[in-house]
Amino acid sequence: MTQPRRHRSRSKRRSIYCPDHATYLDSVSQKYPLYATHPEQLRQRGLSRLRSLTVIAGYGTVPLMGEWLEAFWCDHCQASRWYHVCKTNTNTYNVTVAPTALWMQASGVILTTGNPSVGEFTRRQARHTQFQGIKDFRRIG
Ligand SMILES: [Zn+2]
Repeated sequence: MTQPRRHRSRSKRRSIYCPDHATYLDSVSQKYPLYATHPEQLRQRGLSRLRSLTVIAGYGTVPLMGEWLEAFWCDHCQASRWYHVCKTNTNTYNVTVAPTALWMQASGVILTTGNPSVGEFTRRQARHTQFQGIKDFRRIG
């Protein structure tokens, strides 16, 4: 006799897993959409060189559809980290720890080095701070 398959609740949790532990991640932030500001960023996503140049020249900033930064808590890591999430055409998600360079592509985000805590980031975001150059965030407490 086979065990009945447990029904996963699909209402809340997306299939986003910790790249280190392959366990579910819990979202602890909103999504911060990513934007391309350089042709190279579009070329990396499959656009031709000419098209990339034309698009950036015409629009300056282009939203990267299906990509965003989001902070997640991992029970195994015992930490929340910022991840670069890419939704694929098959409705799965590719998740990688967000490299520093990506911060510059996120909407209204100041480039940070290190790994800012969610609280610090949210506070910054709430103030609608303009770009002020490279800031080195340190965890407080
Ligand atoms: Zn983990």
